[in-house]
Amino acid sequence: MSKNTLLQVKGLKVAYGGIQAVKGIDFEVNEGELVSLIGANGAGKTTTLKAVTGIQPVGAGDILYLGKPIRGQGAWDLVKQGLVMVPEGRGTFTRMTITENLQMGAFVRSDREIDADIDKVFGIFPRLKERRNQLAGTMSGGEQQMLAMGRALMARPKVLLLDEPSMGLSPIMVDKIFEVVETIHKQGVTMLLVEQNASRALALADRGYVMDSGEITMGGDAKVLLNDPKVRAAYLGE
Ligand code: ATP
Repeated sequence: MSKNTLLQVKGLKVAYGGIQAVKGIDFEVNEGELVSLIGANGAGKTTTLKAVTGIQPVGAGDILYLGKPIRGQGAWDLVKQGLVMVPEGRGTFTRMTITENLQMGAFVRSDREIDADIDKVFGIFPRLKERRNQLAGTMSGGEQQMLAMGRALMARPKVLLLDEPSMGLSPIMVDKIFEVVETIHKQGVTMLLVEQNASRALALADRGYVMDSGEITMGGDAKVLLNDPKVRAAYLGE
């Protein structure tokens, strides 16, 4: 493992009852990288993120975070250590305001810089600032996605895992979400991005992995993957 590898997954297997959803995969995320994990519906991408973040029990394999094994640790402990996921479907607190949701994101922290960090999040998402007193449940899908990302940033992630942030959004909102992913990446946050929008996800990423039926079938430089004829045929509709 190179010294700046923040997350390393080796031989990860996850099953739901008798069904193997993840069949022994290896991947890594290095400090400062944006890594995209692409693949069709049902390939096992969400299951992989859930297993890494302690939400889904692991059948076999090792997960090293900051060089230490974390398999079996709970999601809460991992968030405290900076391994933070923005789930598919977002999971904002709908009866709380935007500001309250952001404060909840900092729940794991004991420092006093929370208001300053809320201002930073508002800098990335001006829309959230405009609506800071609005109840999260009354916001559009795209705004809720922004809020979920902002809330995750409030935990000061060392590795941020995003599960399909563009799913179900209008084209304009999809553009905005990918812009924000790029901004957060440029600010130095290490990210693992799961996406079905393969072309956008690979265009932004440093490296990528392709997942198919529970296995990682390809991996490497994101631009090389983006130009690979097999990837273009299977995931870019060519
Ligand atoms: P999507 O883009 O549709 O979310 P994905 O690549 O994230 O797809 P997963 O959601 O990880 O794929 O699903 C992988 C496989 O595991 C699928 O066959 C799915 O039906 C199955 N699966 C996922 N969650 C469960 C569950 N809670 N119980 C049983 N099977 C599940």
